[in-house]
Amino acid sequence: MLSTMQDIPLTVTRILHHGMTIHGKSTITTWTGEPEPQRRTFAEAGTRATQLANALRDELGVQDDDRVATLMWNNAEHVEAYFAIPSMGAVLHTLNLRLPVEQLVFIVNHAADKVVLVNGSLLPLLAPLLPHLPTVEHIVVSGPGDRSVLDGATARVHEYEELIAGRPTTYDWPELDERRAAAMCYTSGTTGDPKGVVYSHRSIYLHSMQVNMTESMGLTDKDTTLVVVPQFHVNAWGLPHATFMTGISMLMPDRFLQPAPLAEMIEREQPSHAAAVPTIWQGLLAEVTAHGRDISCMKTVTIGGAACPPSLMEAYDKLGVRVVHAWGMTETSPLGSVGHPPAGLTPEEEWPYRVSQGRFPAGVEPRLVGPDGSVLPWDGTSAGELEVRGNWIAGAYYGGITGEPLVPDDKFSPDGWLRTGDVGVISPDGYLTLTDRAKDVIKSGGEWISSVELENALMAHPEVAEAAVVAVPDDKWGERPLATVVLKEGATADYQTLRTFLGESIAKWQLPERWALIPAVPKTSVGKFDKKVIRKQYADGELD
Ligand code: ADP
Repeated sequence: MLSTMQDIPLTVTRILHHGMTIHGKSTITTWTGEPEPQRRTFAEAGTRATQLANALRDELGVQDDDRVATLMWNNAEHVEAYFAIPSMGAVLHTLNLRLPVEQLVFIVNHAADKVVLVNGSLLPLLAPLLPHLPTVEHIVVSGPGDRSVLDGATARVHEYEELIAGRPTTYDWPELDERRAAAMCYTSGTTGDPKGVVYSHRSIYLHSMQVNMTESMGLTDKDTTLVVVPQFHVNAWGLPHATFMTGISMLMPDRFLQPAPLAEMIEREQPSHAAAVPTIWQGLLAEVTAHGRDISCMKTVTIGGAACPPSLMEAYDKLGVRVVHAWGMTETSPLGSVGHPPAGLTPEEEWPYRVSQGRFPAGVEPRLVGPDGSVLPWDGTSAGELEVRGNWIAGAYYGGITGEPLVPDDKFSPDGWLRTGDVGVISPDGYLTLTDRAKDVIKSGGEWISSVELENALMAHPEVAEAAVVAVPDDKWGERPLATVVLKEGATADYQTLRTFLGESIAKWQLPERWALIPAVPKTSVGKFDKKVIRKQYADGELD
């Protein structure tokens, strides 16, 4: 029997319309480095998005399914692009501005981007690449920056503000199939070429609803969220869409991502929430401690993208800022699990739940798979690779303009689950604890050592700013851990002290015998520890 319910496609267009009408007064505040930030309401941004769609269609000839890329910081214009492009039936392609240039060139060509929207401050990055980007016909520039680097470009160059000025403020939005492509994002390609994940209107809609649930970020129109996580890093974890659904105001840092301006914008604009990877929070903590900054306006901060060291969580707790730990991937849109503890526990009882990667929301189904392919129980001790499936989980990668979708065996099981490459355990009540990425596990004499456990224990030492542990080859044991440590300013701890400290919580056979003090842990394009660089430095004899 069929239901009697209406069947309305779940589209980004509907999120746009909802945000600019029902929540028209909510705001996007963009940091400019000037005495006053730029302020724009959702109604204004929505109207400008509508004008942008008109301009893209009428002036630039953008048609259904054309890829329109953005090379932009987090700002109001980027939000406008987020809504204009998918709503008109084209595909938003966010480019990670921190990728090595060869990868950027690969990605733009693979997606066959027709238009690039770019911030003026990023033109020095884009301009030299243009001769290698034959599909790019138009460049649209917004914000400050020297345009002369584009002299001689074969693509047509437009000014964002001039392009949208005077355009109609209505658009005959097409009624799109909710399964159609709305946006795409490439993984950073730690192995092989970057792979494109293509989000549908439906997956974005459902994901945004989940982001807004109390189980996840649970914000309302009384909140302002500081969106530090870049809009090119898995759609800023869904925040631009989620905010338009519930009227949460957004504070956008643009290019001012250093700890001092971040602390200043928090003090001045008083956001109640923020989202970013752990390294940003480490940096902000040092700034707050050194200069007595007051960030207590933030009720909660969402930390994800890499394991959040418990010591970091504790430090923010002391500042009155509650950290909520979350796990996800480009392939999972990214919301995969969130660390809210179950009801009715004391703070001490809550702690193990809070430092775990959290529990799975409705819409994400998990299973753990052992080395022999068997599905493991949720008993909190059986460790295996995490596989997931659900409404906003990728089932394949983009195969290029003429190709079939890519479904590599190492990424998808024969029955269609996403193989995350993350190793961990799930408790009987459905909480995930990750012990490692499959490729980072240290296999010592047939036993596994968790690099994450060693790192967390090291970062709990008061003199340690950051620590990254990697597996290095060892004649006797196969692999052993190498601990690379960044000490806090003025700290004097030596290896022996740190080893003794580790010995208080870690089994003796797991303690590293190889150590290196380093000035900073190398980071990936999205600010995570870059362990392959550390492994290479060790192999090249740079860490002895
Ligand atoms: P990449 O890091 O490969 O560029 P993603 O941003 O998609 O791409 O990263 C996803 C990976 O990041 C996950 O598979 C996992 O290994 C790691 N990750 C994300 N969140 C967490 C977390 N809270 N704890 C531990 N690891 C995490």
